[in-house]
Amino acid sequence: MAPDTALFLPQEIIRKKRDRQALSAAEIRFFVRGISDGSVSEGQIAAFAMAVYFNDMPMDERVAFTLAMRDSGQVLEWRSLNLPGPVLDKHSTGGVGDVVSLALGPMIAACGGFVPMISGRGLGHTGGTMDKFDAIPGYCTKPDSARFRQVVKDVGVAIIGQTDALAPSDKRVYSIRDVTATVESVAMITGSILSKKLAAGLDALVMDVKVGSGAFMPDFEKSRELASSIVSVGNGAGVNTSALLTDMNESLGPSAGNALEVRLALDYLSGQCRPARLHEVTLALCAEMLVLAGLAADHASARVRLQQALDSGAAAERFARMVSALGGPSDLFERPDAHLEAAPVVLAVAAPRAGYATRCDCRALGMAVVGLGGGRTRPSDGIDYAVGLSELLTLGETVRAGQPLALVHARSEAAARDAMRQVLAAYTLSEQPAVARPLIYETLRDGSLP
Ligand code: URA
Repeated sequence: MAPDTALFLPQEIIRKKRDRQALSAAEIRFFVRGISDGSVSEGQIAAFAMAVYFNDMPMDERVAFTLAMRDSGQVLEWRSLNLPGPVLDKHSTGGVGDVVSLALGPMIAACGGFVPMISGRGLGHTGGTMDKFDAIPGYCTKPDSARFRQVVKDVGVAIIGQTDALAPSDKRVYSIRDVTATVESVAMITGSILSKKLAAGLDALVMDVKVGSGAFMPDFEKSRELASSIVSVGNGAGVNTSALLTDMNESLGPSAGNALEVRLALDYLSGQCRPARLHEVTLALCAEMLVLAGLAADHASARVRLQQALDSGAAAERFARMVSALGGPSDLFERPDAHLEAAPVVLAVAAPRAGYATRCDCRALGMAVVGLGGGRTRPSDGIDYAVGLSELLTLGETVRAGQPLALVHARSEAAARDAMRQVLAAYTLSEQPAVARPLIYETLRDGSLP
């Protein structure tokens, strides 16, 4: 035991947090080390989490907590590969129909960045990037570290799944927070998200913090508080970090469901269809990454380069190379139907009357996908990759009575009927249009809020 930690006791650290006294970085490191090696008990972690929930952590404690959790496992290094560009990533707090990661990684690679993206599984109503790649037959979301590094080096992007080797202490803390009503602490959410992301050895990180009925945070102010905390702590931990607050009051793309979203990403990259909301959020996040990492002088020039990467086919080519390098089919763009499973039942949800789509319960759309089998209700559940929703109506559009609000892709007619009821209930159709919401509410480049 290091001399500075010899006198520490977990219960004294909990007592200090309970009594609103400051914790030193050494105390926090000691406590997190105990989480990893088992010397801090489940009850002590729960008590600490509840004390943090009520008494919060100032920024210096959040930075120390995040770094200690990052260092509880493997921290990737890229220097020894002499990559000719910066190592970058984007992370989202989770949404519905959000295929940004699938397009963004290859687009950034085509513009000179290197993207080792370690993605998560779906959580509750939100989809997970790892699950989307698991919908591609043969694609390995758990390669060994040598293969992961090689693909990042050769292709510029590798999107894989979370491994137990990265920030293992977070896994233990999260499972206890989950059952002790302490998930909703901005300090601990910040540490949980950033410890895993910073373990990827990044030079720069852009966060997409979602706002609205499909967002993880309950309201705009909380989303903003989280964005601000992540920006402060990320920069405090030595990684260039900024955050965009983006709208999740409806599905970002017109499809939600794993194989359906892979198809959407293929269409987006190949140019067959670039839905406006998805395109704008993707470009905004990519441009922020390029500027943050010094690969573009400003957003306008970044957008020109990104559009070229799309229109020239360079980004699509990176995606195809990544898929094939990680064991997926080499002709996914040419023959998606041969590789991506389609659901046997496809039914349209008919609008009950004419009107403007003015509101959408986006969380309910996500839950409809979960109900179809496209997400999990328990961590051990399997996933049906074929099911989901497509052709989702965009807010602001009008429909006539009987026109489709969406298509439901289901394993059985009974499952389709349930999802159809959920989709119908999720949309509000009104006689008058609603005032349009911004798609991107704010960009935070330093963590201070007015
Ligand atoms: N996602 C995470 O990874 N951690 C949290 O605490 C919340 C969301």
